Amino acid sequence: MRAGSGAGRRNDRFTERGETSDRAESLRQEEYLQRAAQEVADLEQEIGRRPTCCVTTFGCQMNARDSEKLLGILRRAGYAISESEDADFVIYNTCTVRDNADQRVFGRLGRLSHYKKSNPHMKIAVCGCMTQEQGNVDRLRKSYPYVDLIFGTHNLFRFPEYLYRCLRGEKRMVELWEGTGRIVETLPVERRYPYKSGVNITFGCDNFCTYCIVPYVRGRERSRSSEEILEEVRRLAADGVTEVMLLGQNVNSYGHDLPGELSFPELCRRVCAVEGIRRVRFMTPHPKDFSDELLEVIREEPKMARHIHLPMQSGSTEILRRMNRRYTKEQYLALAEKIRTRLPDVAMTTDIIVGFPGETPADVEDTLDVIRRVCFDNAYTFIYSPRRGTPAASMEPVPEAQIHESFGQVLAQVQACARERCSRLAGQVLEGLVEELNTQEAGYVTARLSNNTLVHLPGDASMIGQYHRIRLDEDHGFYYFGQIVTEQESNG
Ligand code: SF4
Repeated sequence: MRAGSGAGRRNDRFTERGETSDRAESLRQEEYLQRAAQEVADLEQEIGRRPTCCVTTFGCQMNARDSEKLLGILRRAGYAISESEDADFVIYNTCTVRDNADQRVFGRLGRLSHYKKSNPHMKIAVCGCMTQEQGNVDRLRKSYPYVDLIFGTHNLFRFPEYLYRCLRGEKRMVELWEGTGRIVETLPVERRYPYKSGVNITFGCDNFCTYCIVPYVRGRERSRSSEEILEEVRRLAADGVTEVMLLGQNVNSYGHDLPGELSFPELCRRVCAVEGIRRVRFMTPHPKDFSDELLEVIREEPKMARHIHLPMQSGSTEILRRMNRRYTKEQYLALAEKIRTRLPDVAMTTDIIVGFPGETPADVEDTLDVIRRVCFDNAYTFIYSPRRGTPAASMEPVPEAQIHESFGQVLAQVQACARERCSRLAGQVLEGLVEELNTQEAGYVTARLSNNTLVHLPGDASMIGQYHRIRLDEDHGFYYFGQIVTEQESNG
C-alpha cells in the first residue's frame, strides 16, 4: 500500500537514469532563481511597490525548516517577507500527521480566495506532506481552482523553477514526485532566529509505524553526508548561530544508508566541536536505536542539551506491537531508567497516543505505569486520529467515551509528573539562552534552559541571543520566573 500513488498526476516523474548530479541541479535552480528575480523586479515596476510573500507552516520542526528554505528563496527572488496572508505570493506548507490538520488547510484556503479576488497578481501555492496524498490533490484540483501551484516534499529543491514558471503565468502547476534519492541543500535559507537553527541530517523514515503517514509522504530514509552537515554547521556558526538542532524523523539511525559514514553519536561529537556552537539538540530519536554510545556523548559533552525527547506512544507492549514500534514496555522502561541513572540532570519528554485501535483500560494502565515510573518532564499527549493510507486506519476504533476517559487520566498523570520535575529546579542557577521578548509581560524576556525549561526574566530586546546564568526563583508548574545572576553570585 502506498498512500499518494496514483496514475496520471505526476507530470514530472523522476527517473534515476535521467538524473543530473546534485551539483548540476543546484546550478540549474540557481539560474531559475535569477530568472525569477527578474520577474519579481518587473512585477515591482508594474505594481509600484515591492511584492510581498508569506509562508504559513503547519506541523513539525521538519516543516518549519522547509519553510525557512522557501522563505530564503522568495527573499532572494526579491519578495519582502510578510506575516499576512494577503501577500502577493502565499504558500501553505502543510502537514498531514493528523486528519484535522488537512481540514484546517482546506478551511483556510477558502479565505485566500477572497484576497485573490482583490489582488490579480496574487499567487497561491500548497506544498508539504498533505500534497503527497492523492485524495488531497484531487480535492485541491477540483474545489480550489485558484491554487496556482501544488508541489510535494521530494522536489522542494526545485521551488526556484516552479516559482519562475508560476510568475511567467503557467496555470495550475501540479509537480509531485513519488520519491527521490536526491538531497540538494545549497539553496538560500531565511532563518527564523539569528541565534539558533535546525540542520537536517536525515530525510524520510523507514520505520513504518502503523499509524504514521511519514514514510509514504516523506519517502525512505536518506542521510546527508557528515561533511555537508558539518560544513553547514560551520557556516551557521560563522553567521552567529550558537544553538543547532539536528533534525530527522529518526535521527539516531543516521548514516545507516551510507556505508562508512559516521555514527549519530560521533556526528554529535563533531558538531559540538565546531567553534562558536554552544548547544546541540536533536529531534527525534527512536527508542529502538538509542545506543549506549549516544548516552556517553551526552554525559561527556557539556554542549549536548540536557534534554532528550524519547517518543513512547504507548506503555502497553501489545499496543506497541500493533503500532509496529519494535520495542516492548520493558525495553522502553529499561532505556528510560538508564537515562535517568546515567544522566540525572537530563530532562526527558515524550509523545503519547491515546485511543489507538484495540486499546483497553488495561493498556492505558500500562501507559500510566510508565509515566509514573519515568516521571517525564513533559509529554505531548494526542488522541489517536486515523490517517487514510496507513495500516492502523483499517483497525477497529476504540469507543469515544473510553478514549476521553483514558485521555483525562493520562493527561492528569503527565501534568502531575511535569509539576514535580519542574519543582526540583527551584533555586538552581542554570544557563539560559534568551530567545524572545515576553509577549505577556512587558519588560520581560523568555530564555530557554539547556533542559528545555522556559524562564521569564526582566530584560529587553538587546538580550536576545545572549546566554545568561539565571536563578530560578518562582516555580509556575511548567516554567519559571527568574533573575540573572553574576558569576560571583552564582558561585557564592
Ligand atoms: S518513526 Fe514511526 S512515527 Fe516516526 S516518522 Fe517514522 S514511521 Fe512515523
